[in-house]
Amino acid sequence: MAARTPISRSLRLLSAARPQLFSRPPAPRPLPTFRNFHPKSPLVPTASRRLAEVRGSTAVADACSTLLVRGGTTVAGIAAPQSSKRRFMRLAYILFACVGAGVTTVTVLIGGFFIYDATTYKELDDAEDIELSELALHPRVGGPKNLPILERYLDDEDSEIGKLSLTKPHLVILGSGWGAVAVLKNINPSDYHITVISPQNHFLFTPMLPSATVGTLEFRSLVEPIRRIVAKVHGHYLEASAEKVMFSERLIEVFQPNPSGGELRFYVPYDKLVVAVGSQSNTHGVEGLEHCNFLKTIEDARKIRRKVVRNLELACLPSTTEAERNRLLSFVVCGGGPTGVEFAAELYDLLNEDLTMVYPKVLRNLVSVHVVQSQGHILNTYDEKISTYAQERFKKDSIDVLTNARVSEVLEDRVVFTQKDEEGVIHTKELPYGLCLWSTGVAQCEVTKDIVASLESQKNRRAIETDTHLRIIGAPLGEVYAIGDCSTVRTNVTEHIVEFLRSYAIKSNKPVEDCSLTFQQWRDIAMNIKRRFPQAGEHLKRVDYLFTEYDTNKSGTLDFDELTRLLQDIDRKMTSLPATAQRAHQQGQYIGRKLTNLARAETLAMTVSGDIDDLVYRPFEYHHLGSLAYVGNAAVFDLNGYSFVGGLVAMYLWRSVYFAQSVSFRTRALLFMDWLTRGMFGRDMTQI
Ligand code: FAD
Repeated sequence: MAARTPISRSLRLLSAARPQLFSRPPAPRPLPTFRNFHPKSPLVPTASRRLAEVRGSTAVADACSTLLVRGGTTVAGIAAPQSSKRRFMRLAYILFACVGAGVTTVTVLIGGFFIYDATTYKELDDAEDIELSELALHPRVGGPKNLPILERYLDDEDSEIGKLSLTKPHLVILGSGWGAVAVLKNINPSDYHITVISPQNHFLFTPMLPSATVGTLEFRSLVEPIRRIVAKVHGHYLEASAEKVMFSERLIEVFQPNPSGGELRFYVPYDKLVVAVGSQSNTHGVEGLEHCNFLKTIEDARKIRRKVVRNLELACLPSTTEAERNRLLSFVVCGGGPTGVEFAAELYDLLNEDLTMVYPKVLRNLVSVHVVQSQGHILNTYDEKISTYAQERFKKDSIDVLTNARVSEVLEDRVVFTQKDEEGVIHTKELPYGLCLWSTGVAQCEVTKDIVASLESQKNRRAIETDTHLRIIGAPLGEVYAIGDCSTVRTNVTEHIVEFLRSYAIKSNKPVEDCSLTFQQWRDIAMNIKRRFPQAGEHLKRVDYLFTEYDTNKSGTLDFDELTRLLQDIDRKMTSLPATAQRAHQQGQYIGRKLTNLARAETLAMTVSGDIDDLVYRPFEYHHLGSLAYVGNAAVFDLNGYSFVGGLVAMYLWRSVYFAQSVSFRTRALLFMDWLTRGMFGRDMTQI
């Protein structure tokens, strides 16, 4: 109790000096409860001060900075001078320890970085002898056009694994995009001698390409060198374009523009071929598209970025007339799909967030962004709620959305289009532009057209048709596959089942029209359809219901006509797969895994008769995981019937999805740095 004495004495002294302080204690504020405080709790000094304040003396409050807690009761005490010194010392010690730890960490990190960096520089040892096949240096000449045939590669003997792969089947992949990279990431590298042929020596992460057109992201953050990916499977890369595939000779005719203006041409032989050459922009037969910009490659994005900045610079010149300034600052986007919408949104962000920081403010008022859309809504493949949200968001942002409008011609300085009004009357209108982006869907590229034209069984004029195992229809079975934007899966259920019924009728020795199916037989056929055409499964959930509905004569069986009608209806409901990265990726994964299984089957010397693809792997089934789009500091999500729209939170979610999907740790690090740089310094507005 010795500690009580100084308090009582102090209080007595205070009471004598300032009686009013003690005559009427300030009651209304309740005393803090200290019972549950641990003696070392950081709240104790605060509570002590509060207790002293409540007692009415700031002098006491200043003095009572320590609490003594004994046996669960709390007593305010006047701090002994040495105890505050001790606390100060303790704080100083903690501060010193923290600073010390920080400095040590930074030193270790910097030191570690320099040590690591130093290990990455290499001196060339004495040049080692490299084994090279004569065929790699002087290829044999042959084939229909008597061209060099690339049977051995310069780097075939660079490693033991490379030498081993020479005895493996030659797998050639055309393309270095989503489909091709997914094959490479899912194949067992030791099963094949792998070659990738593509004019583009990198993989491009297309979903974020619109962000690169205005400098939100840098070009290099969206690409991964294809050689890095190919090296992981000990494969080879040829920077060239495939022009023709000769299925009977198993040769691909390849060309590469020669630096001196000519062309290099040669053949690449294959045992298995995967065509993943993507698509090109659809012109819809509109004239004047040479004046437009496209957005499919890094080079396209670079051209757009330069043009946006150049237009802004020209608009600043005193010699530019007002009409010319308005034209230069008019940005027209033809196509209201995800690419067009995302570009318009990114452009709007640039004009809003960065333009006024470095350009004359008047430019912001003169800038206009227009989206010309042939349908009634933008983002019309998304849920209605999403397209309405996007449209309202654009309206709020003063982005002019022109719906039911079709571009008929693009002139050097203006877009001519027709637009239907509410009464259905068509008006012809014009929009001057400084930059016109053409983004209205996809079409076949040249090599795809050639493949389709060379195979009689190909009926679709817009893409290479494959069966559900992704094998090109009409090409030698089990040798050539097509995936991604360049292909479409033929899901002709009717044709397949009618063929089945015909063979059944022949076996049962009766005309096919007389064949009828009991419910059990129909159920078996439905199971067969689901297995062969997984995409039809969605429409065959209620086989009993379908049986009753299509048994129109109530005979208790499905006759030939009734069955044909049922299957035709299912065919109609099955839509073709979307031309998206998601689809190309899933198909690439599928082919990678299937090729691995096929190689395993061959290694086990499996003697199989019939359809080996069908035996080793199930048919391809597409799983739609949802769609998302960026609409200007906001994002929209369409997740299989569940839609989600929103502002910055949705935008961060959108970024996180693509951040996670990005192809490598390197690109993720670069993406992160770009977002950080934009936040700190704004977008890059240089014309480099
Ligand atoms: P690609 O990825 O286009 O790859 C084709 C490859 O083939 C390229 O490397 C090309 O150089 C090469 N090639 C071309 N011709 C030849 C030839 N003759 N010989 C050899 N190689 C050749 N999809 C989504 O799911 N989500 C999105 O958010 C999304 N956003 C997009 C944004 C933009 C701006 C664009 C352009 C597309 C977007 N897509 C998106 C669509 C998606 O990019 C494509 O569906 C996807 O790239 C298709 O993959 P692919 O492998 O078939 O073709």
